[in-house]
Amino acid sequence: MAEAGQTTDGPRYRRVILKISGEGFCNVGERGILMDSVLHIARQTFRAAQHGTQIAIVLGGGNILRGAQFTSGNSSVHEATAHYMGMLATVMNGLALQDAMESLGCDTRLMTAIKMDGVAEPYIRRRARRHLEKGRIIILVAGTGSPFVTTDTAAAQRALELDADALLKATRVDGVFSDDPEKNPHALLYSDLTYEDVQRQNLRVMDQEAIAKCQEYDMPILVFNFRKDGNIERAIRGDRVGTFVHGAKSG
Ligand code: UDP
Repeated sequence: MAEAGQTTDGPRYRRVILKISGEGFCNVGERGILMDSVLHIARQTFRAAQHGTQIAIVLGGGNILRGAQFTSGNSSVHEATAHYMGMLATVMNGLALQDAMESLGCDTRLMTAIKMDGVAEPYIRRRARRHLEKGRIIILVAGTGSPFVTTDTAAAQRALELDADALLKATRVDGVFSDDPEKNPHALLYSDLTYEDVQRQNLRVMDQEAIAKCQEYDMPILVFNFRKDGNIERAIRGDRVGTFVHGAKSG
């Protein structure tokens, strides 16, 4: 396990999953969709794609609605219903991102895990792979299509089934810390962790379910700050920005 400040050049990826939380689509502390923020993400991703990496983006919906938060103290909505609402939120984000990317001249496909004819094409694994092979950026929305999980789990699931080389998790902090950096100014930033380190120290990387899947299949995860200009491009290029989480052998 290494600590903050150490950076080494990583491998160039052939195919990645880029997980972007809904918070990337609005200002800190706000909600909704801000097209300037969407365009900022679109530009960086498009630039990275021009270096040849195949990119599948899994979008969150937390800027609009998170199922678990929506139902806490609100018993008039079944929690499953709220999770479906959360999944629909990711579709709205996807529509915004697709138009932003296409306004830059980037070839994209929006694929949804909940069938929605007339809005987006259904997520079909073989078709998704085909789009990637043709150099299109695919935007994957509606999570897994099932309630009670988050889009982190969807990102892990898609990374495995699409044979990605890494799962790149874009967040608003610099990586994985020893404590919550927004509350504890002395929290340490890690540059390199094994899945075992994460579990032993109970570190917040992704949902338990998502991290367990990545560990089981040795899928490396890079957690990095998307708000720093150029970071999305660097992460996709294979630079070790943020924290790299991997199995004992793959570091
Ligand atoms: N969601 C779900 N199943 C999935 C993915 C997402 O039910 O497979 C719901 C869940 O309620 C979640 C919401 O959609 O809170 C929005 O996704 P998420 O919270 O992961 O968004 P992010 O925090 O990444 O913006």
